[in-house]
Amino acid sequence: MLEKFERYPLTFGPTPIEHLPRLTEALGGKVEIYAKREDCNSGLAMGGNKLRKLEYIVPDALASGADTLVSIGGVQSNHTRMVAATAAKLGLKCVVIQEKWVPHHDAVYDRVGNILMTRLMGADSRLVDDGFDIGIRKSWEDAIRSVEEAGGKPYPIPAGASVHKFGALGYVGFAEEVAAQEAELGFKFDYVVVCVVTGSTQGGMIVGFAAQDRADRVIGIDASGTLDQTRSQVRSIVDNTAVLVGLGRSVREDEIVINPDYAYPAYGVPSEETNDAIRLAARTEAMMTDPVYEGKSMQGMIDLTKKGFFPEGSKVLYAHLGGAPALNGYSYYYKDG
Ligand code: PLP
Repeated sequence: MLEKFERYPLTFGPTPIEHLPRLTEALGGKVEIYAKREDCNSGLAMGGNKLRKLEYIVPDALASGADTLVSIGGVQSNHTRMVAATAAKLGLKCVVIQEKWVPHHDAVYDRVGNILMTRLMGADSRLVDDGFDIGIRKSWEDAIRSVEEAGGKPYPIPAGASVHKFGALGYVGFAEEVAAQEAELGFKFDYVVVCVVTGSTQGGMIVGFAAQDRADRVIGIDASGTLDQTRSQVRSIVDNTAVLVGLGRSVREDEIVINPDYAYPAYGVPSEETNDAIRLAARTEAMMTDPVYEGKSMQGMIDLTKKGFFPEGSKVLYAHLGGAPALNGYSYYYKDG
């Protein structure tokens, strides 16, 4: 469905699918757990899901003649790290607004991990006081204007690269890639588990898997803690993207599955169960997940497996979207491992 769209390569290519036998065993062995390693997708500043999205946005940015990418996220935003990386790679300037999305205790929270790399790559990182919100923000609009006032040509990229007409195409491609890998593996996955916040990762997957008539097997695990806003953003991304790629039908409500049970206590704050999930993935598979996103989807996958949500014999594909650099800003939680 993506042939008609231009793609600027930022990733290594198809991401590996890895069997996780020790995690499978730790969860009772009745459901086979695999991971698709979007976290290892690129040599650009440690990679992650945003690069798959940005591959379809960059051609539009270059065609616009922009000289500055302007985006927004939290202080420990993976997204702003990836926009800064893309700008550096393309030789463009970059302005990122970093909002105080998360209450934090760690003394170095605003100096390590994602923000450290963002600064190293030369982005103009502007810290502002606003709290968590996945919508369009005034601080971002102000930043866009500030670039114009300085004589530059900004290219705006919204939070998570989600509310952008091409933002979900990369994850439509993910679904096509999984189908091709299944043909090689000789089996199909019964479920895909994916973290959802700003929505274009799961939204793209839903459209891609709807073309294979199995979108309802994409289990979104909400990490936003603002379920209604996330769900309605996914809905509109799905609707726009379905038209854009020519899906040929509208996606039904029951094909958008988002589980809200693991986002507590709040966006960016891990629960004890989140931290236990992070430890289990690390100790069984040396697979690093973070307290903001992947730790919560890992927690969801673990709990749903233990509860018997996936029928015995199911093959579950955990989409690992990246995010481990943020762990550095959460060292107080893991002082004792
Ligand atoms: N996982 C990681 C590591 C992320 O950086 C993000 C970004 O928000 C997500 C999951 C959620 O993806 P999305 O914002 O497309 O819903």
